[in-house]
Amino acid sequence: MRTLSILGSTGSIGTQALECVARYPDSLGISALACGSRTVRLAEQIRKFKPQIVSVRGPEEAKRLKSLIGDIKNPPEIVHGPEGLIKAATWPGTTSVLNALVGAAGLSPTLAALRANLEVLLANKESLVMAGSIIQKLLKDGHGSLVPVDSEHSAIFQCIGGDISRLKEVSRLILTASGGPFREMEINEFDSITVKQALLHPTWKMGPKITIDSATLVNKGLEIIEAHYLFGIAPEKIDVLIHPASIVHSFVEFHDGSMLAQMSYPTMQIPIQYALLGGERRPANVSPLDLAREGRLEFSEPDSEKFPALDLARRALKLGGTATCVLNAANEEAVRLFLEGKINFPSITSLIESALDHHDVMETTETAIINADLWARNHVFKNVSEILQFNPDTK
Ligand code: NAD
Ligand code: MG
Repeated sequence: MRTLSILGSTGSIGTQALECVARYPDSLGISALACGSRTVRLAEQIRKFKPQIVSVRGPEEAKRLKSLIGDIKNPPEIVHGPEGLIKAATWPGTTSVLNALVGAAGLSPTLAALRANLEVLLANKESLVMAGSIIQKLLKDGHGSLVPVDSEHSAIFQCIGGDISRLKEVSRLILTASGGPFREMEINEFDSITVKQALLHPTWKMGPKITIDSATLVNKGLEIIEAHYLFGIAPEKIDVLIHPASIVHSFVEFHDGSMLAQMSYPTMQIPIQYALLGGERRPANVSPLDLAREGRLEFSEPDSEKFPALDLARRALKLGGTATCVLNAANEEAVRLFLEGKINFPSITSLIESALDHHDVMETTETAIINADLWARNHVFKNVSEILQFNPDTK
C-alpha cells in the first residue's frame, strides 16, 4: 500500500494520478494534496480523497479554500506557500510523494522528501535540471529513492525492468520527441507564431508551460539533462529522434547492439500508473496499440537550426554547475513573457542563450542554485526590452 502526497494535484499530471488512485483504492491512499490557485477543484478532491493536509499557493487561496470546505466534518489542515509544500510532502504516514508541480517551485519539496527518506515519483523534471548533482548525491548517500514519471524516462526505466543496476549494460539512450506543432513550418515564419498556435500540441494534452516547452523543443533539452542525472549516462550517449506519432516513448540500446523500446498511444496514464503501482502492470484505461492500423512509424534527426534548444541544453550540461539551473530559470521567465504576448516565439531560446552567454558558472550548492535562478530571471527582465518585438497580433 502506497500512501501518497500529491503535489500539483489539480494539474494535468495530478488529476490523472488521482484517476489512478480512484481505480486502485486497494493499493493507493492519499495523505496530502497541494496546488496553486485552483481551490474549487482542490475542494472537490478533498471531498473525494480525504487528505489529512492540503497546501495552496498563499494565504488568500487558503482563506478561499477554508470557506469552500466549511461544511466538512473532519477537514484537513490547510497550509500554504513553499513551507506548506514541504509540510505536505513530508506529512507523517506518507510513503511516496508524486511531485507534479510545474517549474522551480518543485525543487524544495523534492529535496525535502528525499531527505525524509521517501520515495519520490518525479514528474517535475525542473528539480533534476536545477539540482541534478545534489539529488544524485542524496540518492547515493541512501536518502530516499526516485522513480521517473516523465514518459521518456519512464519508458527507459520500463526497458530496464525498473532495475537501475542494469544501466551498466546500456550503451545509449534515445529520447523520442514529437517535434511539436512547428516541425514542418519554415523558419522564416517562426516570428509570427501565435500563443494559440503554440498551445496546440499535435499529440499530447498537457499544462501550458510544458506545451510551450514542447513547441520550442526546450522540453527535450530539459529531458536530456533529466536523463543524464537520473540514469548517470554521459550526455554524448543520449540522442534525440523526432517521432511525430509519439508512439515509441524512448529506446534503450544495450552493449550487445540490441535495442528495446516502450510503446503505447500517447498517454500519461501508463507512466503515471507504472510509478504509482511500483511497476505492477494492471489495466490503465488505455486502448492497446494497433500497429497494423498505424502501418509505419517514422523517425528523423532534429533540425538544430530551427530548434536551437537541444544544443543549448547540451551546452549547459557541458558548462556544468549552475548553468542548467540558469537555462531552466531563463526559460521559465521567457515562456511566461511569451504566454503574456510580450515576446515572440524565437525570443524564448534567444533569451536562454543570452543568459548562458553571460552567466558566471558556480559549483552546484543549494545557495548557488537560488542565486543563479534569481540572476537568470533578472537577466531576462533586463534583456527583454532589447529584443522586445511585441506585436499585438501575436496574442
Ligand atoms: P499543470 O500546469 O497542468 O499543473 C501544475 C500543478 O502545479 C497545478 O496543480 C498547479 O496548481 C500547481 N502549482 C503551480 N505552481 C505552484 C506553486 N507555486 N505552489 C503550489 N502549487 C503550484 O502542469 P503539468 O502539465 O501537470 O506538469 C507538471 C510537471 O510534470 C511539469 O514539471 C511538467 O514538465 C511535467 N510533465 C508533465 C507532463 C504532462 O503530460 N502534463 C508530461 C511529462 C512531464
Ligand atoms: Mg516527456
